[in-house]
Amino acid sequence: MKSYDAIIIGAGHNGLAAAVNLATKGWSVAVVEAKSTPGGAVKTQELTLPGYAHDLAAMNLSMFAGSAFHARHAADLARHGLGFVPADHCFASIFRDQTYLGVSKDLALTTERIATLSPRDAAAWKDLFASFGGDAPHIFGLLGSPMPSFAAARVVWKAWREKGTAWLYETARMLMASPRDFLDARFENDKLKTMMAAWGLHLDFTPDTAGGALFPYLESMANQAFGMVIGKGGAAAIIHAMTGLLKEKGGTLLLDSPVSAIDQDQAGKAIGVTLASGEKLVARRAVIANAHPQLVFGKLLKTDATRAAFDEKLKKFRAGPGTMMVHLALDSLPDWTAGEELKRFAYVHLAPDMQMMSKAYAEAAAGLLPAEPALVVGQPTAIDPSRAPEGRHVLWVQVRVLPADIRGDAAGMIEARDWNSAKEAYADRVISLIETYAPGLSSKILGRSVFSPADLEAENPNLIGGDNLSGSHHLDQNFLFRPVAGYSRYKTPVDGLYLCGASTWPGAGTGAGSGHMLSDMLAK
Ligand SMILES: Cc1cc2nc3c(=O)[nH]c(=O)nc-3n(C[C@H](O)[C@H](O)[C@H](O)COP(=O)(O)OP(=O)(O)OC[C@H]3O[C@@H](n4cnc5c(N)ncnc54)[C@H](O)[C@@H]3O)c2cc1C
Repeated sequence: MKSYDAIIIGAGHNGLAAAVNLATKGWSVAVVEAKSTPGGAVKTQELTLPGYAHDLAAMNLSMFAGSAFHARHAADLARHGLGFVPADHCFASIFRDQTYLGVSKDLALTTERIATLSPRDAAAWKDLFASFGGDAPHIFGLLGSPMPSFAAARVVWKAWREKGTAWLYETARMLMASPRDFLDARFENDKLKTMMAAWGLHLDFTPDTAGGALFPYLESMANQAFGMVIGKGGAAAIIHAMTGLLKEKGGTLLLDSPVSAIDQDQAGKAIGVTLASGEKLVARRAVIANAHPQLVFGKLLKTDATRAAFDEKLKKFRAGPGTMMVHLALDSLPDWTAGEELKRFAYVHLAPDMQMMSKAYAEAAAGLLPAEPALVVGQPTAIDPSRAPEGRHVLWVQVRVLPADIRGDAAGMIEARDWNSAKEAYADRVISLIETYAPGLSSKILGRSVFSPADLEAENPNLIGGDNLSGSHHLDQNFLFRPVAGYSRYKTPVDGLYLCGASTWPGAGTGAGSGHMLSDMLAK
């Protein structure tokens, strides 16, 4: 029987980060991945036509580029081919009157755009940006510390010493605020507020959901400060580099190897895994699951009455709403009515006001296909032309938000109640919606590939119901409560078994935080 210090279930970027760190500390590690391609929600594939590289799920790698894992291994990852392409024109929103507002890395350019709407807001944006410089180390310090931990307490203590009690209270208020309340307190113009609130929907925050202010604030300010980056040639650049580095350090990566059970000894300690093939692998020090905890505790482990309370709480860990990807190969970029310069932006949000964000969310929550979904239209080839044949483009369209199970259509047009039958009709709705802002898009389409919420889950079982977050980020499931209160430090009730990944603190995104922090806790 093959034996390793640690076996990691799942080659998502968190599992790979843990594996690289542990291998660096001299552990023998094996990463065991169910699918034939590593990366989980970070994959780049020719989904439409040969020569057109599409990021199947994640496209924006700013979180990875700014992560502690990347800082530790940057030179080695670059040696294994990792490159980033910066987007100086980061994100924009188009409004119903066919105007737009966007954030570019050039502060003067962004504030000039805001000033045409409201000189007062242009000044407020500059003020917020100026204070971000002082806030960021503390906020990112907290997001990069195990929760709870002395490290997190030290971050708060240091922030209090440097910034004072009033700052601490204001920051705590911001962590709890809804996007609308946070934005109303700072700005007067609805377009500016709408542009920022759209970031809430990347997670599962409507404009009025408590706890939703943080992401719009951080994304707006971080894009202003650092710009956005995408992977050179595709987001999978991070996965290729991590798997290359893992192998160089002596680690093993087994693909096409679904884990069907976690093996335990008489005392209940996790001691290895059984693959679907029947092969058993021994883990001498740790089994780390980069799999959704409901898959681990629902399927891979024997039931055990001593953990009944934990299992019961975990069953109640809620998924966020579903998402869908529409990938297009285009002969040229969309002709945005709002302005030619929109062709330079990495993300164009089609979420033209706060009312529609709330409505789309409420419809999805009720099981309805939203009549007007919010769209994130990514234009990766505007920034990295290497992803398509010369002069051609790919479009990355993420649909926010959708029901996992369809009970009806808010527009009353689509009869189908299962995603396989509904997805192409819904993708047609998405494309028509883009056409209202970029007429003629359909005639530019050379190929299309649609991933419904069900397809996304089939591609990566961690995305239960097509939930791109692997668990809602609402306040009661974040910080100390992710995935279960008392188990936010990656330990589980099973001795020797640890969790990492988007379902654990600090949650979804490509920041590799949980894999990095867990491995540092295991091998100091
Ligand atoms: C459509 C979409 C768009 C997104 N866009 C962005 C973005 O632009 N920027 C960003 O920062 N984040 C984005 N995200 C979020 C981000 O991609 C994810 O939160 C992150 O990649 C999750 O990483 P992870 O380490 O938790 O593992 P995952 O990516 O979930 O990978 C887990 C792996 O475990 C494997 N696995 C599960 N069970 C088993 C088993 N029993 N045996 C073996 N293997 C198993 C799976 O096959 C999978 O490969 C997006 C997500 C989605 C779905």
